[in-house]
Amino acid sequence: MYIRQGIPPLAWQQITTVLLDMDGTLLDKYYDDYFWEQYLPQVYGEQNGLEEQEAQQELYRRYRSVEQTLMWTDLNYWSAELGLDIIGLKKKVDHLIHVNPHAIDFLQFLQNQKKEVYLVTAAHRSALEIKMNRVDLRGYFQQLICAEELGRAKEEAAFWESLEKRLGFEPDRTLFADDNINVLRAARGHGIRYLIHIAKPSSRQPTRYCEEFTSVSAFDELLAPGPDSTSAQKN
Ligand SMILES: [Mg+2]
Repeated sequence: MYIRQGIPPLAWQQITTVLLDMDGTLLDKYYDDYFWEQYLPQVYGEQNGLEEQEAQQELYRRYRSVEQTLMWTDLNYWSAELGLDIIGLKKKVDHLIHVNPHAIDFLQFLQNQKKEVYLVTAAHRSALEIKMNRVDLRGYFQQLICAEELGRAKEEAAFWESLEKRLGFEPDRTLFADDNINVLRAARGHGIRYLIHIAKPSSRQPTRYCEEFTSVSAFDELLAPGPDSTSAQKN
């Protein structure tokens, strides 16, 4: 079993840019899990005269076939594929959209520290709008970037090349937080220095720390006072 030792304090004075994932990082992933795993199979089953379990199996098969591609998050793709108004259905359960614990405190901290902060999401622009209409975090970001605009999934090296070109960040002075290990690996491959894994993306799932990255269950762990990192650097 992995025993967690606590995380070393971050050298905040070195960090100029902060890139943050949305679903599972800032927002409770339960909304997305519920929508794709329960609500949509239910509606799809009713529409097609399938038992819920059959509908679920059918949809899971389709989900897997486009995993880690831009199609997975493209709501228009799913509307066409399933013959359903996915955006309308997402709005029907939007009461489940919530901000993860301490995410606002963290965004306020970054704002006070005058960091450049960007939302970097795999979500489709229309899904982003549904979420921001429910929990408006837009004011905390210099820009909100959807992977579809760059034409690549966040798991791909080319995504990070395009993102750096667009934002002009220095990888060595950039922090990126995400709940997806494959995405964190791609960011690491690009040389992003400060990588944070979110170990509790959903309010309905237990915390699952990972060993490969600095792993926190919530953002308050990044704000915990540690030894003075300025003096630590002089050593
Ligand atoms: Mg995520």
